[in-house]
Formats: sequence, structure tokens, C-alpha cells
Amino acid sequence: MTETARHSNASVEHDADRTEGISFPPSAEIRAIVFDLDGTLYVSNEFADAIQDSAAVYLSGVLGVGEQEAHEAMAATRNRLTKERGVTQTLSAICASLGGSTADMHAFFQKQLSPESYLARDSRVVDLLESLGHRYALYLYTNNNRVLTERITALLGIAGCFSKVFSIEDTWRAKPDEERLEQILETLGLPPRDVLFVGDRYEVDLRLPEQKGCPVFLSRSIDRLLALGQLLDSSGD
Ligand SMILES: [Mg+2]
Repeated sequence: MTETARHSNASVEHDADRTEGISFPPSAEIRAIVFDLDGTLYVSNEFADAIQDSAAVYLSGVLGVGEQEAHEAMAATRNRLTKERGVTQTLSAICASLGGSTADMHAFFQKQLSPESYLARDSRVVDLLESLGHRYALYLYTNNNRVLTERITALLGIAGCFSKVFSIEDTWRAKPDEERLEQILETLGLPPRDVLFVGDRYEVDLRLPEQKGCPVFLSRSIDRLLALGQLLDSSGD
């Protein structure tokens, strides 16, 4: 089974992420799947906006400015770093660049954010993970913190699906991070070609794993995520 990597759209997204172009070697003998959480196992623009708003409130305290000014500082920093580094920048990188602490920001998130207001169980995703869990070891690797990850996965009905969860406070090294990725692959005890990475941001979730030799799958919608099950079914694994 092949999944064609093809760009039909020449326009470049503002965040410089790839929207298509997955590597999915048909010969891959996949034994484990490492999922990103936010934007991958659920999609909610409203909750994503709430996270940005909460970060702006936290950074307004760090910078001693109003919330709107903090939003503007975040946008300017995101644009500047993205230009300098050539890839999309995470909230962790923006927070650090503005003098904030990733740990403090996540402590703030835990108090302020209410995923319960935005997210609901999607039985298609639960069924997919339960089905994949019979054939593969499933892991979660997220830039989110452990408390929110537990609340979100409980809301989604998928909390029991993972052999292990790798969250931001394990090392406070946000994705993308090569050293952390190597640690995770070592923990899994599998060669890279056996470990499929699934995420919604190519530069953040997939570029480093792909460079290490892992198959990767880019998914930015639940329909796309569900197609993963069909791809794996038809890959003959
Ligand atoms: Mg994500």
C-alpha cells in the first residue's frame, strides 16, 4: 500500500508546515505508533484559541503589559523566529523568547484552561485506537503537560489506550528536540523503521522522526486520522 506524497497546491501555508507529503513505506514493519495529542487525536480551533489566549494572559504578567499587547508580542515573536529559523515555532519557543518559563506557563494552563468546555468523546477515534492497540504498542508524545493530557484523554475516552505518555514536564524539552526523540526511541526499544509517528504539524511532530528513519503520518482532521486505520489495514502488517 502506498500513500502518495504529492503537493498539488503550490501555495505555502503561513506557518510553513506541510499539509501533505507523508512518508509511509509500504515495507515498514510497524510495531509501535507514537501519537501527538492536540490537533491530532482531537481537532478544536476553539480550544487552540483558548490555549493562545491563556498564554497571552500568562505572558502579559511576565511582560507587564496588557493582554492585547501580549498577543501582539507573541505574534511578532512567532513571525521573527519563524523567519530566523525557517520553521514554525511552538508556543514553548515563543514563551522562552519573551522571557517566560515553560514550567510556569504550564502551571498557569492547568489552572486556567478548561478542555471540558470544548472537547467531547468521538467514538470513531476511540474505536480506532482500541483497534490499533490490539496490533501495535501505542504511545503519546505531547508538548502538553501531564495534568491537562490526563484530563483531555479522559474526556476523549482514550486515557487507557497508551503504553506510556511522554509529556512536556518529563524533560521540559518541547518538540521538536532530537535528544528527547532519541530518548523516546530508546525507551521504546525499537528501531526507527518500526515506529510510526502521527502528528498535525510536520515541523514539530514529524520532521525529526522522519530524518531518523521513522515512517510518519500527517493528520490535521479526524477524517484523515481515520484513514490511518485503513492504510494500516491495507498495508498487510
Ligand atoms: Mg499537535
